[in-house]
Amino acid sequence: MKEKQIVIIGGGLAGLTASLHLASAGFQIKLFEKDTYPNHKVCGEYLSREILPYMNTLGAPLNLLNPVAIEQLLYSSPSGKVIKAELPLGGIGISRYALDNFLYQKALEGGVEVINDNITDIDFSENRFQILTVNGVVAESLLVLGAYGKRSLLDKKLNRGFIKKKTGWLAVKAHYELDSFPDNLVALHNFKGGYCGLSKTETSAINVCYLATYNSFKKHKNADVYKQEVLMKNKHLNSFFKKAKPLFSKDLTIAQISFDQKTRVQDHVLMLGDAAGLIHPLCGNGMAMAIHSAKIASETIIEHYDPMSLNRKKLEEVYNKRWNKTFRSRLQTGRILQKILLNPGMAEFSQNALNVFPSLLPGIIKRTHGNQVL
Ligand SMILES: Cc1cc2nc3c(=O)[nH]c(=O)nc-3n(C[C@H](O)[C@H](O)[C@H](O)COP(=O)(O)OP(=O)(O)OC[C@H]3O[C@@H](n4cnc5c(N)ncnc54)[C@H](O)[C@@H]3O)c2cc1C
Repeated sequence: MKEKQIVIIGGGLAGLTASLHLASAGFQIKLFEKDTYPNHKVCGEYLSREILPYMNTLGAPLNLLNPVAIEQLLYSSPSGKVIKAELPLGGIGISRYALDNFLYQKALEGGVEVINDNITDIDFSENRFQILTVNGVVAESLLVLGAYGKRSLLDKKLNRGFIKKKTGWLAVKAHYELDSFPDNLVALHNFKGGYCGLSKTETSAINVCYLATYNSFKKHKNADVYKQEVLMKNKHLNSFFKKAKPLFSKDLTIAQISFDQKTRVQDHVLMLGDAAGLIHPLCGNGMAMAIHSAKIASETIIEHYDPMSLNRKKLEEVYNKRWNKTFRSRLQTGRILQKILLNPGMAEFSQNALNVFPSLLPGIIKRTHGNQVL
């Protein structure tokens, strides 16, 4: 086995970022990704600015992708009442199609071995991991990072608690064209059963992504009928969908999204990004957290790695502690916000309160984001 070899499962934002960071520190990285690049992913595509300085230090400056600068939030309640606020730090609008592919190219340039395969099993024994892919590839490693996103069969294999519960959420995404949609705006429109985010990407397409409860969705025949009968009850979404031209032949859909707490370390696998915990999408911070968690894990590994006598317990404890310190309160605030926004009465009440005290909103947004990551 090569010294300083690490296996990463999943080549989304967390996995690719960790691969770049660790490869630059001299680790040999085998990264397994089940899908090919580039591809579209269900995501709001609003990326908080907090991680841009860190991406620069990794040699992956995201300004090369010509993202749009987003500085304003417009929020509407199901009845159509609107609040606008400046985003304290702001963000960029960038498609996952471009972003993940850019990091993938950077990983290849950085010497990361990217293997297009689906990991189906992980075994840890005698202080070593053995992983197995659907195509029968076997890899061995002293450390494995789980960066495989929200939900995977691997969660079942690892017997993780959250996977046993049914989740009530699904999400739908597509790109649209509408010239009059402002560049610098992220709009969050609430409807009965969920909310829908709209913002521009680097191609000028508007990414439209909504999260809905399965209970509200299942009463309708399909996503088109749901859009007509539920989303378009919000007058802002109604006006958008009437005017905008869809750019995808079919919406992308994912189901079984879990916001339950997850373990950061499971059977000695260090979990990153959504595999460690998913913040409610309305906070617009999941991508930044995925990237930041990769930084925390990489730094912890670099500090504690010793191929001859790895103190695994210490490494896991330090990672867990740093993760909690950085993200726990953001996730909690996200859970509270989601509860408020999905209760129509509370959503209207909180909106009235924010109209009276508009200065509260930037403070709430700050609580779901971090400071600049260097
Ligand atoms: C509806 C919705 C809207 C969102 N909007 C936003 C937003 O606007 N802004 C924001 O910051 N965040 C948003 N998020 C959150 C954001 O999308 C995630 O937090 C982010 O993608 C997490 O990155 P990740 O690398 O952990 O996972 P992913 O990006 O999902 O990457 C995981 C990768 O692992 C691969 N994989 C999975 N299993 C295996 C396996 N067994 N073997 C090999 N490969 C595997 C997958 O193919 C995938 O490429 C949203 C989330 C949802 C659900």
